[in-house]
Amino acid sequence: MKTIVLASNNAHKIQEFREMLPLFNILSLKDIGFFDEIVEDGETFLENSLIKARAITNYLNSKDKQMMVIADDSGLCVNALGGAPGVYSARFAGDHSNQANRNKLLDELKNKEDRNAYFDCLLTVMKPDGSYNYVEGKSFGKITTSEIGDTSFCYDCLFYSDDLNKTFGEASEEEKNSVSHRGRAIKLLIEKGLLN
Ligand code: IMP
Repeated sequence: MKTIVLASNNAHKIQEFREMLPLFNILSLKDIGFFDEIVEDGETFLENSLIKARAITNYLNSKDKQMMVIADDSGLCVNALGGAPGVYSARFAGDHSNQANRNKLLDELKNKEDRNAYFDCLLTVMKPDGSYNYVEGKSFGKITTSEIGDTSFCYDCLFYSDDLNKTFGEASEEEKNSVSHRGRAIKLLIEKGLLN
């Protein structure tokens, strides 16, 4: 079984990758003993995913470990907010609190008619020599006016999926993965043979 390092410690993301790539051994940053903070100061999802991929590839090379790295950078882009929170999705309300982020989103959309939004996911795959490829997946929907469904993964309970006709918070993991931004990006990785 081929091992791939996922440049993340987000339990939900790791779970989604493991479910969608059952033929690979997916390691988290914790699994490889990487505990430093990576400063994600890029202005785009691609820049941030490259920052993460390079940091982890350099770390693995310094430990003489030859492994492929996948770095995911994703976020929610809301039309009425000019694409915000975008790359700032995790820290929209200042810290990394899911509840505070959701409260801020609902607050900023009060009285806004256009509630269209999409999740965007940029996945970079980097080889030990630093060469890389990337793919992008998007998933479209609308921001609800209150939380519906499971509240454990940030904006899931506020995102009414156009594909599923329910919020991501109400969807099973399988349903979400079949239409989500991450699910679509991972499918592209496989289709393009970028994990071979
Ligand atoms: P990243 O870990 O820097 O890529 O930040 C991604 C942030 O975007 C997460 O912390 C969430 O706030 C948001 N996000 C990305 N994908 C999802 C999802 O599938 N559900 C809910 N929130 C998401």
